[in-house]
Amino acid sequence: MTSTPDLAGKLALVTGASRGIGYEIALQMAAAGAHVIAVARTVGGLEELDDKIKAAGGEATLVPLDLKDLEAIDRLGGVIAERWGKLDILVANAGILGALTPVGQMKAKDFEAVMTVNVTATWRMIRSVDPLLRLSEAGRAIVVSSSVAHKVKPYWGGYATSKAAIDMLTRVWAAENAKGPMRINLVNPGPTRTAMRAQAVPGEKPESLPTPAQTAAKIVPMAAKDLTHTGKIFDVPTDTWTDAALPTPL
Ligand code: NAP
Repeated sequence: MTSTPDLAGKLALVTGASRGIGYEIALQMAAAGAHVIAVARTVGGLEELDDKIKAAGGEATLVPLDLKDLEAIDRLGGVIAERWGKLDILVANAGILGALTPVGQMKAKDFEAVMTVNVTATWRMIRSVDPLLRLSEAGRAIVVSSSVAHKVKPYWGGYATSKAAIDMLTRVWAAENAKGPMRINLVNPGPTRTAMRAQAVPGEKPESLPTPAQTAAKIVPMAAKDLTHTGKIFDVPTDTWTDAALPTPL
């Protein structure tokens, strides 16, 4: 999937839009015509995004928000309902790596942080905007996962558990909506040149990895009106759609 869909007139909410993959998804969706609601904590990153979107003739609304503030996520759904009355696209992209450490030594605050941002806030965002996506003629949800959701990788217990959890959450949500016009899918972006990847694999040469813009270009078509897949995982590195894989053996 590489062709950019026409998103003119669409309203897209992108979390984690201040840098990395989410920033580029927001930029590319705005270039395709969507009004982007950009969510993250870092105001500087959001403002830079806004400048770029406006310079290209697009539109954005910035929402500086810490996703750990779960009630603020509920309020955001209310604000979108009042101002626009619907939502066409959700990109639940924000995430943290957390601490890479043996399960038996993980600090409670580290485990709680990764589960709150990656799982609870994602569910809370889904709950907040689900009624608004139903009001769209073709609601699209893209939930950003990872290959480690299905890999048994020592020291990655917190992050991998959080991604396995949102995989199941997303697939159940998709199954509940299988008959309507909504399309709800997961994406594995694959290794991408971002701050998170540098934190995860510090010795790696960044130039060896795809840029966030390259990865985003493969994700944005998942918002297309004519998309038929739902409840699936789009795997960016192999450019293929799959059903959720079973965990690989030890
Ligand atoms: P990144 O560069 O670290 O960006 C993460 C984004 O999430 C930032 O915009 C950050 O914004 C936002 N975020 C984090 N905590 C937040 C919070 N509490 N409240 C609001 N926003 C928050 O990471 P990335 O590599 O682009 O990752 C994007 C997604 O892809 C993640 O879900 C990640 O798990 C997944 N992924 C990435 C790779 C890779 O190789 N890069 C591979 C597989 C999966 P603020 O800090 O400004 O709040």
